[in-house]
Amino acid sequence: MAGGLRAQAAGGRKLGVALVGLGGYATGQLAPALKLTEHCRLAGVVTGDAAKGRRWASEHGFPESNIWHYDTMHQMADNPDIDIVYVVTPNALHAEHCIKAAEAGKHVTSEKPFTVSVAEADAVIAKCREMGVKLSIGYRLHFEPHHEVLRELARTQKFGRFMKQQGNFSFVMRGMQWRAQHALAGGGPLMDLGVYVIQEACMAAGGVAPVAVTARQLPKERPDFFQDVEESIEWTMEFPGGEVCEAACSYNGRGNQFRAEAANGWFEVQPAFGYGGIRAQTSEGPVDVPNLPQQALQMDDFARCVKEDRVSKVSGEMGRRDMVILEGIYAAMNSGERVAITGA
Ligand code: NDP
Repeated sequence: MAGGLRAQAAGGRKLGVALVGLGGYATGQLAPALKLTEHCRLAGVVTGDAAKGRRWASEHGFPESNIWHYDTMHQMADNPDIDIVYVVTPNALHAEHCIKAAEAGKHVTSEKPFTVSVAEADAVIAKCREMGVKLSIGYRLHFEPHHEVLRELARTQKFGRFMKQQGNFSFVMRGMQWRAQHALAGGGPLMDLGVYVIQEACMAAGGVAPVAVTARQLPKERPDFFQDVEESIEWTMEFPGGEVCEAACSYNGRGNQFRAEAANGWFEVQPAFGYGGIRAQTSEGPVDVPNLPQQALQMDDFARCVKEDRVSKVSGEMGRRDMVILEGIYAAMNSGERVAITGA
């Protein structure tokens, strides 16, 4: 069915969402958020654990026929309950699962980072185009009011251009998990956490990508744990208007903030990147906007994009842009050279 017809068929009903990968984020954030959404609802799952799937069906009130395995996702094509497939598996599996969802004729949301390479991002975008389905990325902070203030300040240039920016997102990772394995994560904290700082800096620069990056991996304090991914990284992004962002992220540190300074004022958000409790200030005082349920707003927005046949503001192209930047930062880290960002 062409995109427009599909949108008409969706009508006023709540669209059915299938979550793919029932781990921490799907369980702790997305499923609860789907109880708050107006335009979509949880209607199925894809999981490697059939018993967990049955528990979810019982708890969330969908039929057991709406439980699939990663190998049987293609069977969703015959199931009209599912309109949107939301991929929440480890990073290196996003492309495969997004492509399977699109091949089943379903609209797709991929968690961040979109994929683990630009080539994979291109493949997902091409498949979604071929199948006439919409694609979005789980960039929840685009639906968060404090970050909306930053985007608005960047757009109006009320304080001038944010020439000097600084951001850090770090935590101490404990326990052995896929995030420390290159094969599943595609990288270390840069892939997982750095993408938030990249997003923020692009917002502060007015929605554009950097033109060049430099980067430095910090010595590992736990080399046994972080065998094939970086533990900590610092990098610099230079934007077309001359803005510069000094950024850092780590799996062995603390940080959750972003600051942007212009000639006539500044904006700072701290804590910056959480699911709630976000606080921001400008040179004029505290930013007085509420914390809202980011994931519910994000998923409702995508459901409305499907219903109204619109492109998401957190599009596949935006996810691809960030993959270009991430690849550039890793190239800079590995070479020690300043790397030009092209084709973002
Ligand atoms: P978890 O490890 O908690 O869950 C991942 C799930 O993926 C597993 O529970 C499993 O589900 C499924 N899975 C399929 N294949 C594998 C495999 N080979 N190894 C491990 N798990 C597998 O991860 P998170 O939920 O924390 O993260 C998932 C994705 O969501 C990541 O891409 C991450 O970046 C993103 N994320 C985004 C956040 C945001 O704020 N936007 C916050 C947290 C994560 P099952 O048992 O059902 O098969």
